[in-house]
Amino acid sequence: MKVSVTFKIQPKVDKFISPDFFVGRILYLEVLIMNISEYILPHKKMILDAERWLWEHPQTGYREWDAHNYMVSSFEKLGYEIIPAVNIPGFITDIEISEGPKILILAELDSLICSEHPESAKDTGYVHACGHHAQMAALLGLAAALKNPKVSERWSGSLRLCVVPAEELIETDYRLDLINQGIIKYPAGKVEFLHRGYFDECDIAFMCHTTGGKDISCSFGGNGAILKRAEFIGKACHASAPNGGLNALYMAQLGMTAANAIRETFVDSQHVRYHPIITHGGQAVNAIPSHVQTESYVRGADFNVLKETNIKINRAVAASAAALGGNVKINDIFGFAPLINNEGLIAVMDEARKMVFPGSVGSGCDGWDMGCTDMGDLSSIMPSLHFFCGGASGTAHGKDYKIEDPYLACLGSASAQLYMLDILLNNGSERAKKVISESESLFKNKDEFFETIKTFSLEREAVNYNEDGTVTLSFC
Ligand SMILES: [Zn+2]
Ligand SMILES: [Zn+2]
Repeated sequence: MKVSVTFKIQPKVDKFISPDFFVGRILYLEVLIMNISEYILPHKKMILDAERWLWEHPQTGYREWDAHNYMVSSFEKLGYEIIPAVNIPGFITDIEISEGPKILILAELDSLICSEHPESAKDTGYVHACGHHAQMAALLGLAAALKNPKVSERWSGSLRLCVVPAEELIETDYRLDLINQGIIKYPAGKVEFLHRGYFDECDIAFMCHTTGGKDISCSFGGNGAILKRAEFIGKACHASAPNGGLNALYMAQLGMTAANAIRETFVDSQHVRYHPIITHGGQAVNAIPSHVQTESYVRGADFNVLKETNIKINRAVAASAAALGGNVKINDIFGFAPLINNEGLIAVMDEARKMVFPGSVGSGCDGWDMGCTDMGDLSSIMPSLHFFCGGASGTAHGKDYKIEDPYLACLGSASAQLYMLDILLNNGSERAKKVISESESLFKNKDEFFETIKTFSLEREAVNYNEDGTVTLSFC
């Protein structure tokens, strides 16, 4: 019946458009119209309840046990078998349909710290000021819809749903402690999961992050980052006789001034960002500070820019410590790879977008994201997409951030993701296969990726005072 409709349409269409396009389109249009009413909406209460509960139980990266337990129990109630990461929060679960590509869909567990936010946790300042709780509620809705066998009856391939910890790269000391204890190897959750092999069989990855507005959108990509900690080392003495000491605070101050002076060498199109904070500035007002610690990211648009800029910053920091006769221990850890959103997946997102918001115009894709995400790491080795769904208001990471429209942020996001899966996996997963065959990842495999990011690691005292009176700097 549907095929005969297709044949009627075929003579009228442009000769360059395959008739299969219309077969697929008619079939998935029918499925999509049903999705809203039959697949996502019956779970509305569960989805919106999850959004509220998760908002009220925020925890930062690698501490998100409350959300983890809630999500495990919700997935198990839906009949999923969970494979947990065990010693850190997060899990994966597989949905096997048939032969074909495996698509990885992620949601992030972690909150931020923003004590000024009126709804932040009183003792810790934890709050979901980036809306990751809405991602989890949407993934739960998607998981519930996928339990209906009708959804995937025409699909080829399989799915892996993943609830992943620690996207926000904060609390460096805590993450370094976990690394030193051997609990994790990488500070960001998706990189840690990648290292553990949890994404090994996956061919395509996507996730939907909450944002402002009322639409679905994405950028062409986003910055990568190196996580930097610099511990300036001086010598304490009584503040009334500072000639006996070495002021580590002044070294840090000089380091920031020197870094600021090289900002004008940053090329606009490379989107470099450097934004240090002082995390330890001295112990007692009547003593010259002997240890001062700063933390920052060095952000940039590609691996080369990250490397070149990081060397400049480290040279400035090391020379500043040397200028005052002190030292600086530089600890660089690779944070995030630059995000490259896959063109084929952007097109799939846009088709789904026009189904969710029929009045949408344009491509839904624009610009470059100065922020970073560990979806960038996945995008270095497989076709990936990090896109956004509206529903939030206020300033991301700020004191007025909230989910204004949970229906859109959660049900809209779940619907868009379901549409995308339908487009990718319908018709013998033709679209997914096309995306994979046309995609050229930066690295051939994860081993190559991990070898490269290892070259960004640095842990050393950068200033050497030689016996002959010369000073040598070592910072890369
Ligand atoms: Zn964020
Ligand atoms: Zn976020």
